[in-house]
Amino acid sequence: MDTPPPLPAHVGVLVIGAGFGGLGTAIKLEERGERDFLVVERGPDVGGTWRDNTYPGAACDVPSQLYSFSFAPNPDWSSSFSPQPEIQAYIQRVAERSGVLDRFRFGVELEEATWDDAAQLWHVRTSAGSCTARVLVSAAGALSDPKLPDIDGIDSFAGPVFHSAQWNHDDDLTGKRVAVIGTGASAVQIGPEIADRVEHLDVYQRTAPWVMPRHDRPYTPLERLAFRRLPVLQKLYRTAIYWGRETFVPAFTVNPKLAAPARKAALKNIAIGIKDPELRRKVTPTFAMGCKRILISNDWYPTLAREDVDLVTDPISKITPSGIVTRDGVEREVDVLIVATGFHTTDLPIAERITGRDGVLLSDYFRAHGMQAYKGTTVAGFPNLFFVVGPNTGLGHSSMVFIIESQITYVMGALEAMRQRGIGALEPDPAAQQRWNDDIQRRMQRTVWSAGGCSSWYLDEHGRNVTLWPRTTFVFRWLLSRFDLDRYVVTPRREAAAPSVVPETVGSAQ
Ligand SMILES: Cc1cc2nc3c(=O)[nH]c(=O)nc-3n(C[C@H](O)[C@H](O)[C@H](O)COP(=O)(O)OP(=O)(O)OC[C@H]3O[C@@H](n4cnc5c(N)ncnc54)[C@H](O)[C@@H]3O)c2cc1C
Repeated sequence: MDTPPPLPAHVGVLVIGAGFGGLGTAIKLEERGERDFLVVERGPDVGGTWRDNTYPGAACDVPSQLYSFSFAPNPDWSSSFSPQPEIQAYIQRVAERSGVLDRFRFGVELEEATWDDAAQLWHVRTSAGSCTARVLVSAAGALSDPKLPDIDGIDSFAGPVFHSAQWNHDDDLTGKRVAVIGTGASAVQIGPEIADRVEHLDVYQRTAPWVMPRHDRPYTPLERLAFRRLPVLQKLYRTAIYWGRETFVPAFTVNPKLAAPARKAALKNIAIGIKDPELRRKVTPTFAMGCKRILISNDWYPTLAREDVDLVTDPISKITPSGIVTRDGVEREVDVLIVATGFHTTDLPIAERITGRDGVLLSDYFRAHGMQAYKGTTVAGFPNLFFVVGPNTGLGHSSMVFIIESQITYVMGALEAMRQRGIGALEPDPAAQQRWNDDIQRRMQRTVWSAGGCSSWYLDEHGRNVTLWPRTTFVFRWLLSRFDLDRYVVTPRREAAAPSVVPETVGSAQ
């Protein structure tokens, strides 16, 4: 990667991350005529999740027609659930066409941001130097920092070990004995893709997931032509998918029994894919459907049923230089270890780097109060900080891009209010934030995520669901459609504070 050019001394809006969230924010800033922004991205390109997750079989599990920006429809999706390279190419294309890339700095990691109350700005330190920013937008991702399992001896393993989000493409796995630890969304995509070429595959399962059939199909050339020629048709199609997905919400949030037809389809998926009763028992989930993310695959169960694949359900007790030992004392030899164990979701690493008013570290604040924000976007005590994908904004049923666009609208409203009213700093009223989160946690109690009988990455160490949105996405959009300044504590701009107008172009072209 080329050395990024030095940062400007000051920037109006500093965005962290160049995934869907950061890119969408940059595009909307540009649209409203705000040129004074900079996006810092530690990776070498836009894409975030879709730049990093290059494992075999990586694909979205929400239809691409919906899992894309509303303002940048793509008539050329090849199939219902597009593979990673296609999604990454889409994000790159949108970025190139948007004319904002001159304000992106790749290979630049935000190391520290500290609020300065007197100057009403953030002091920011990055791997490429320091700057100040009037507003900080964290679009650093909720699933962007891989979580490695804490297993005794893992460091002693002699062969390659890698996380699904950091796939080692130098090792083609052909003829190797491979172990995959985990049976979540990534693992069910990886297993079937590599089973043919490895000598033997061991899949280590802690909890069996619910896996629905994957209704994927390629779009015909005629359909693609129609989407291209008649954008309204594609819009209608997207809308139909959107409302179809929203019908899942009551099963998650009101009555899990409403998931009965889906449960039946998932059990049939097992029955079709696996004949051995013992293996069927092992893969049949023991918790309510939806409690953990529902997965989709047509080839997961047939893969587990293969002669050269073993599903190991005994807990792992340790890893040796040459294999994995389970609690029953059995050691299985393995050449390559793939950990598909998810991400830091309730202990966001970015929170370790942001210090608000009175020197309070955001991660300490989250530890004390639970990971929470007002409308998933702003946090009391952290002025002029906005999250795009923040606490309780995640979804189990629909497209995160819908949430991202809703939050961006809200952030743009905040920036407009700041500009119009000469506001130097704003942060949510703690009481408003409290009410918002009390309501979320009250609603959580009757959801399948809390009462479904599983532990999942949605929950923090106290069992609180701090990651998901417990209502429909249209309610989320409606609640964030207008910036509610009356719920904010506002400080007028001080004369000596950071300039409201800074040089037109802040970075140089990449
Ligand atoms: C394998 C996988 C499949 C998924 N499939 C779906 C799906 O089908 N549908 C769906 O709705 N969602 C899916 N998701 C969730 C997905 O993460 C979101 O949909 C979306 O891509 C998030 O975009 P984002 O911009 O918020 O975060 P990300 O895409 O994670 O981008 C965050 C960016 O911030 C950068 N960053 C983080 N910290 C720093 C720092 N300190 N300094 C500089 N840069 C930093 C990261 O490098 C990254 O590029 C999936 C996630 C994974 C992991």
